[in-house]
Amino acid sequence: MIYLKLDGHDFSYEITDVIRLFFGNEEIMLCNDTPPEECRGIFIFSSITHYESSRVFTTRLKVDGNLFKEARFVWDVVPDRQLKKEVKRQVYLVLSGYTGRKLPWGVLTGIRPAKIVHELLTRGFCPDDILEEMRNYYFVAEDKARLALEVANTETAILDRTKEDMISLYIGIPFCTTRCLYCSFTSDPIKKNETIVDKYVETLKTEIMCINEIIREREYRIQSIYIGGGTPTSISATSLKGLLEFIDKSLDLSSLEEYTLEAGRPDSINEEKLEAIRDSRVNRISINPQTMNNKTLKL
Ligand code: SF4
Repeated sequence: MIYLKLDGHDFSYEITDVIRLFFGNEEIMLCNDTPPEECRGIFIFSSITHYESSRVFTTRLKVDGNLFKEARFVWDVVPDRQLKKEVKRQVYLVLSGYTGRKLPWGVLTGIRPAKIVHELLTRGFCPDDILEEMRNYYFVAEDKARLALEVANTETAILDRTKEDMISLYIGIPFCTTRCLYCSFTSDPIKKNETIVDKYVETLKTEIMCINEIIREREYRIQSIYIGGGTPTSISATSLKGLLEFIDKSLDLSSLEEYTLEAGRPDSINEEKLEAIRDSRVNRISINPQTMNNKTLKL
């Protein structure tokens, strides 16, 4: 059992992410009080306090009642949006010290490390400075930092080709066959929502019509469409076919370069759905495994 106590902030989601990087599925209990000395297990205390104009970040790690490590940073000026990052970094450093492990992606737990590289590029960082920032601030391993930079450079080359009047359309289906334990997306099991799925798809069509009005008025051209989720292929073959046909006939797809349908869960695909996809303008199916590790997939 891992006990977690926070003070002066409410970043339990972010800290829990970091704890899971080191301790996997170990149960984490958020507590209001410090557990008694005789309490077995790991106790993590994280706080942000104000001292005059500065902010003090503290992370304390106790194991079986004994203090293992305490870290304290004092920052004079920390923008609010950076507070979460600082808390995560500190917890990462303490847990890395305790476990003796450095993780390949360091403190990063999101799905697009290249997004950080894009932000740094926008702020005028050169490639060497970006690699240094990824290593020293986010604790990312050298090979992963280089990979993120390479991905960002490839994306930049594609984005640079995009004309001002070109847009990309994202269409979300927030249902999946079941909800994965590690999921951070807006998605709910389809069985639990059987009564609203059809209504959702019909409302989606209405919204597509409204968006299409805006596209026409502003004379935008649709360069790409991405139907994601959730798992779009979790809806019935009839609903999927109806939605794809509706998109094909309602939108001007003459400038379309890429049209993706996400089919991330093999248990959501069948022949009928594949036929519906083949008969539409979709030219890319994304079977996007979040992990190749069978043990993780079964969680
Ligand atoms: S398949 Fe993807 S979207 Fe659906 S629950 Fe799993 S991780 Fe979330």
